[in-house]
Amino acid sequence: MTREHRPRLKRRGFCLCCIGSSAFAATGGWLSPGEAFAQARNVVDGMRASAAEAPIKVQKLRGGVSMLEGSGGNIGVLTGPDGKVLVDAGITASRPRIKEALASLSGDPVRLVINTHWHFDHADGNEWLHQEGAAILAHENTRKHLAEATRVEDWDYTFPPSPAGAVPAEVFSTEKTVKVNGATLALKHYGASHTDGDISVAFSEADVLHTGDTYWNGFYPFIDYSTGGSLDGTIRATEANLAAATDRTIVIPGHGPASSRSELKDYRDMLVATREKVAALKKQGRSPDETVAARPTAAYDAKWGRFAVSPAGFTKLVYAGV
Ligand SMILES: [Zn+2]
Repeated sequence: MTREHRPRLKRRGFCLCCIGSSAFAATGGWLSPGEAFAQARNVVDGMRASAAEAPIKVQKLRGGVSMLEGSGGNIGVLTGPDGKVLVDAGITASRPRIKEALASLSGDPVRLVINTHWHFDHADGNEWLHQEGAAILAHENTRKHLAEATRVEDWDYTFPPSPAGAVPAEVFSTEKTVKVNGATLALKHYGASHTDGDISVAFSEADVLHTGDTYWNGFYPFIDYSTGGSLDGTIRATEANLAAATDRTIVIPGHGPASSRSELKDYRDMLVATREKVAALKKQGRSPDETVAARPTAAYDAKWGRFAVSPAGFTKLVYAGV
């Protein structure tokens, strides 16, 4: 984290990239009481501390599909007589509040958890949900990362292998269809994008699309190059999301409020424009710091640069990807 973007972080949350444990200086705001953040040693502990406090917002979307917001990544929930299906599992520290939120939707137990990718803010809750009877399903690369010690360089953090119950027992490689509660869930691997194991989950009848972290609504995204992420793959994933959505589709992003195809298009345009600008600067021989100083994201910062990934952090992620 550089000095010039630290003040931006003070307002809301903390930086998910380019932040080492020694540099962790977030002071809280949107996600958590300042105390918890200030004492956190790194971004992962900071997010766990945040999840231990954050309220869970429940939003009913359509056709039995709801969204829970507040524990790491957004959780999609399908209710019905076969039991609940969750798309992503949140952070374990939120367990009591997630249970309360789920109970407010229906009394059905959770039967299935689908992970959009392996990151802890989406898969940490696998263990307790599995203990309570849920099967875990994900892409094969997600299982690989959860089953072994995995390091995220930009978080300066090595995750230990997950407990056996938290590791997806069922995996797939390209596509899979799940029929449950009278609904059709279409699961599709994006290829290398935010990580190498990201999938979309389309609730076909309800016309709700969960994109996982290929889409951050209103925030610059993180790209995890440590586990196979790709900038161009993230742009391709966004094109795939646009192709899968219509003007009626409700889009559940990995982070940020429920969204629409037109907002997804703004996100794609921001990614493509930033890629072009940063690629041109890199081609001129500018260093990462010189590229950040040229402020290639300036036109977008007011809208996208106010949360987890700062303008400087995002510029460096894009620089590494072109
Ligand atoms: Zn992620």
